[in-house]
Amino acid sequence: MTQINYQFTEDFARQMDAEDPLRSFRDKFLFPQVNGQEAIYFCGNSLGLQPKSVRSYLHKELENWANLGVDGHFHGEDAWYHIRQKSKPALADIVGAHTHEVVAMNNLSSNLHFLMVSFYRPTKERFKIIVEAGAFPSDMYMLETQVKFHGLNPDEVIVELKPREGEHLLRTEDIIAEIERQGESLALVNMAGLQYYSGQLFDMQAITAAAHAVGAYAGFDLAHAVGNAPLKLHEWEVDFATWCSYKYMNSGPGNISGIFVHERFADRPDLPRFGGWWGHDEAQRFLMEKGFVPMHGADGWQVSNTNVLALAAHQASLDIFEEAGMDRLRSKSELLTGYLEYLIEQISGKSGILEIITPKNPQERGCQLSLHIHRGGKAVFDEWYSQGVVGDWRNPNVIRLAPTPLYNSFLDVFRFGLILEQSLKKFA
Ligand SMILES: *Cc1c(COP(=O)(O)O)cnc(C)c1O
Repeated sequence: MTQINYQFTEDFARQMDAEDPLRSFRDKFLFPQVNGQEAIYFCGNSLGLQPKSVRSYLHKELENWANLGVDGHFHGEDAWYHIRQKSKPALADIVGAHTHEVVAMNNLSSNLHFLMVSFYRPTKERFKIIVEAGAFPSDMYMLETQVKFHGLNPDEVIVELKPREGEHLLRTEDIIAEIERQGESLALVNMAGLQYYSGQLFDMQAITAAAHAVGAYAGFDLAHAVGNAPLKLHEWEVDFATWCSYKYMNSGPGNISGIFVHERFADRPDLPRFGGWWGHDEAQRFLMEKGFVPMHGADGWQVSNTNVLALAAHQASLDIFEEAGMDRLRSKSELLTGYLEYLIEQISGKSGILEIITPKNPQERGCQLSLHIHRGGKAVFDEWYSQGVVGDWRNPNVIRLAPTPLYNSFLDVFRFGLILEQSLKKFA
């Protein structure tokens, strides 16, 4: 990354926007209004904005449904029966996989449960699960109930990784040391790829290698990593992963999830799974016979037939990602988040009101910065919101701001800087 001399001036921000090869992508999205003005939207980590193209993608499927009825399943190139195939090249590019290692299906937490069926099979000797402390609640409930489902006690199974005393982040060396300490009792490392609260991007390659070295599986929840951080799931030998499409992937509230299963497991019908007809050998699906034969690759984990309307909205966004390219998005993201970090440090300086807890090293974070609020609490957040800044507040004391490279501009970040400057006077 080239070194930039950031400046807290409107001219500088406009110059950066003028030089941004992705600047035109902002026009592809719809921005909400807050208090009668266009929001400074830094909440793509929670719900990405709506691409303008979504309506036409949905409309197309509504038309197919209207005009073809049931024949839509097998009609033409985009027949619903095969429609998931269309989403695979973009998904594979975004997560760094082969197309047969990914498939769009279900929702995130449900997919975690389905994947646990295959990748968490505790024995008397090997039953422990490592997760980061303070994981997203859904992941904690998922793990707790999975463990109980196996008749085990979560307190004896789930090992939570905590930062060192006085630190906010996990050190890779400590994660690896814990994996080694658990050794042969460890069945699974199941962590976030990018932690939702702190914004820390974990070294998934090193964690996976350490897990494999003790004979355990490594799987990641990529809710905050997908479409945000560079991912090479295949090359990193990650066993499995899942994500959602409504955060950085801009596919609409609660929309379809996706899974990755490494090609090592592509032809492993012996791996236990909870089957359904859509995971069954496509060629024989309509023979309606007994005997589950899983499809090759990630497809073999599908359960229900494809949610076509959901996937249509997702496809609108995937096509935008293909056009922008993860490499270009990442380059801009580092600059944009770097600018936000610079302004926060310049403006809040030694006020003691804010502290960025997200890693300083761009290689250890995505676009989100998490700010510990030491004074003023949620009132700081409310003040920003009243000025049009949409971020989010996470108890007990964190504000998350995520300038996303697809639709945020340097001018957005500059404008936030002005609001920050004003607000700090109130809370000084
Ligand atoms: C957003 C998020 C979820 C949400 O799960 P859903 O099943 O999509 O409701 C789960 N885990 C993490 C880490 C998240 O960030």
